[in-house]
Amino acid sequence: MSHHKVVVIGSGPAGYTAAIYTGRAQLSPVVFAGQKAGGQLMWTTEIENFPGFQKGINGPGLMMEMMAQAQRFGATIRYDYITAVDFSARPFKLWTHIPQGALAEQVISSLSAEEYAKLRATIIKTEPAVTADAVIVATGATSVMIGAPGEEQFLGRGVSTCAVCDAAFYRDKDTIVVGGGDSAMEDALALTKFAKSVTLVHRRDSFKASKIMQERVLSNPKVKVLWNTKITKIVGEQFVTGVELETNGVPAAQPIDGVFVAIGHKPVSGFLAGQLALDAHGYVITRQSVTTPGVSAAQAALQDSGLVAYPTMTSVEGVFAGGDGVDVRYRQAITAAGQGCAAALDAERWLETQE
Ligand code: NAP
Repeated sequence: MSHHKVVVIGSGPAGYTAAIYTGRAQLSPVVFAGQKAGGQLMWTTEIENFPGFQKGINGPGLMMEMMAQAQRFGATIRYDYITAVDFSARPFKLWTHIPQGALAEQVISSLSAEEYAKLRATIIKTEPAVTADAVIVATGATSVMIGAPGEEQFLGRGVSTCAVCDAAFYRDKDTIVVGGGDSAMEDALALTKFAKSVTLVHRRDSFKASKIMQERVLSNPKVKVLWNTKITKIVGEQFVTGVELETNGVPAAQPIDGVFVAIGHKPVSGFLAGQLALDAHGYVITRQSVTTPGVSAAQAALQDSGLVAYPTMTSVEGVFAGGDGVDVRYRQAITAAGQGCAAALDAERWLETQE
């Protein structure tokens, strides 16, 4: 077991940016990058909207640059998942142990609270991997997927989970958006600016989205809605060429260039439950969360100066958070990086007050 001033959990843009900043502050951060370091951008082919890359950059390339930049300033990268934390006392304890028969990725996010609690009891009987004075949580989120055959195979090659990122690649193309919530409406509208057609595929006969978003989508001549429809298969060769659908149980096939899955996001926070305050959807609450609990936390941390103290601090003093695991609103690589920077600066300033 080793002790560190700063431990960063997560290796997306928020985690690496936090490591670059705390590294340059000579805090020798340790980044727990997970077994598949790099986060969601590892699944993205081309990124055109990250400032500084006029000609675009591919997702894995950007993440490798960020990791190397963090290492240049003294960050240590560990390819392990944090599987349990104890934030009840300082120094904070963090474990990487994976009980026999369990899969690391399930342990950190996809188990039920009861299943995880059982595993956690086993994990915390082992010696922690590290202890830390401050922790920056940057565990990100995963897109909820429909689970149809072909979806995983064509991710980044015709299947996308981010229209803001990828709509421009579908100029004059035929596209599908799956979902009936605000994300699906927003993605459909983003695509209408480029695509030849947008077919909104929804499993029910009414949308869940806000009325105003529904109206905007339904009044747009480029959008067609397929109600009571589910995608049963995504087909293609190198890239997506079509989908197989079922409307009211009746099968059909439709040629298509792009499928945008917009059925929600799930923050990676299962292993943090009970240790940090999470909102009803599992997002980590900080004082800059744009939700009711976030506003309350900010109010409680408002100083006489009129400034909110340590905006990225979570419900536990000394634990900070940023990126898609906190952000219910923007979920962009650049906003995650910005929040990772803010968390690092807050952690650095807070650590100075502890000396
Ligand atoms: P959401 O509101 O939970 O909507 C998810 C949609 O996907 C629902 O229509 C749901 O169908 C559908 N769905 C879920 N699982 C599915 C599956 N396996 N197969 C097919 N369809 C499935 O998620 P969201 O749209 O990402 O929004 C999340 C939160 O962010 C919401 O509070 C939303 O208002 C907010 N948001 C706001 C804005 C905005 O204000 N501009 C933009 C984006 C998101 P059912 O309807 O049948 O349940």
